[in-house]
Amino acid sequence: MNHSIAIEATEVTFDNPPGQSLLDAALRAGIELPYSCRKGVCGSCVGSIASGEVRGLNGAAIRNDTCGPDQVLYCLCEPTTDVVLQPASWKRVDPSARKTLTAKVYSNQLAAPDVSVLRLRLPAGQRAKFQAGQYLQILLEDGSARCYSMANPPHESDGATLHIRHVAGGQFSQRVAQLAPGDPLRIELPFGNVALASEDTRPIVFVAGGTGFAPVKSILDDMLKKRVQRDITLIWGAREPAGLYLRSAVERWQKQWPDFRFIAALSDVPSDDAFAGRADDALRQCCAALGGHVVYCCGSPPMVSAVRSAAAEKGLAPEDFHADVFVPGPSAAPA
Ligand SMILES: Cc1cc2nc3c(=O)[nH]c(=O)nc-3n(C[C@H](O)[C@H](O)[C@H](O)COP(=O)(O)OP(=O)(O)OC[C@H]3O[C@@H](n4cnc5c(N)ncnc54)[C@H](O)[C@@H]3O)c2cc1C
Repeated sequence: MNHSIAIEATEVTFDNPPGQSLLDAALRAGIELPYSCRKGVCGSCVGSIASGEVRGLNGAAIRNDTCGPDQVLYCLCEPTTDVVLQPASWKRVDPSARKTLTAKVYSNQLAAPDVSVLRLRLPAGQRAKFQAGQYLQILLEDGSARCYSMANPPHESDGATLHIRHVAGGQFSQRVAQLAPGDPLRIELPFGNVALASEDTRPIVFVAGGTGFAPVKSILDDMLKKRVQRDITLIWGAREPAGLYLRSAVERWQKQWPDFRFIAALSDVPSDDAFAGRADDALRQCCAALGGHVVYCCGSPPMVSAVRSAAAEKGLAPEDFHADVFVPGPSAAPA
């Protein structure tokens, strides 16, 4: 049985079919609530329930340590009664803007021993409409999906470029290197709501871990196209030099923005031109106080968590920390 969901103090109502999270039901109805990973890890979708009852989808826990006392993770809750939500924010979006398409591999290059740069082309006449920093889902034969951030900027809309790390034992990422031009892949896009405000002119620090560089590249290429003038620092962390697999992009930004500051952070193999240590330590040691700054961080859950703590120590306001977390494993079926 469908339950009716409302947003407190608004006219917004939508139906929540059984077996679907509050977040996915909202997205399907064209109501965008804040979210990122849709797996109950990043905490972007936390909000309150003003009235009504919810439970964990498939027995999942509905809270994690990012939730305040009255908050739940909308991505893992399903209603058991009619519910009134108190989200942090919401906006109307066009639900038909999300598309499922068969893309074809255009090129596939090994950028590092364990990173493939996969360029996909959309069918003729189709355009990928997305915002810099959003991600797509690759739909696998077994019905599960894997999320990958677009590394290309939105104006390059005839396809999607993905940076995919080969995860040991990974069902999809282990076979990426074998994909050949012309191979078809079912994709759905776009996902993710990008919390960075384009009109914000405050200094910004990007912190990327490994292939967390992909959405950062999309955002920076988009800023370049829009001729944004802003104080920008990029910290890119990896274990060894090969993990910083696309230095040419960084050199391009350095050329275009003379004040662009780049810090390579290598945790395992030192190099003369890199900070020796993890990205969170580089943030602690190489950046001045972060009050009045914005930080955008992307990488694995432990990396994002360590950078969040380091940023807080340096005086960053919690609401100025924005993150995309590459939560491992299969994603929920598309909304
Ligand atoms: C919003 C979002 C965006 C993402 N964007 C990117 C991206 O741009 N580039 C990218 O490389 N990845 C990205 N990921 C991760 C990606 O979706 C997959 O989880 C990853 O590629 C592994 O898929 P797989 O099928 O190879 O592994 P699976 O078969 O799903 O997992 C196999 C095993 O490996 C473990 N595992 C999976 N991933 C990791 C990992 N990263 N570290 C350690 N253990 C792991 C799993 O827990 C499991 O035990 C993103 C994830 C999210 C949620």
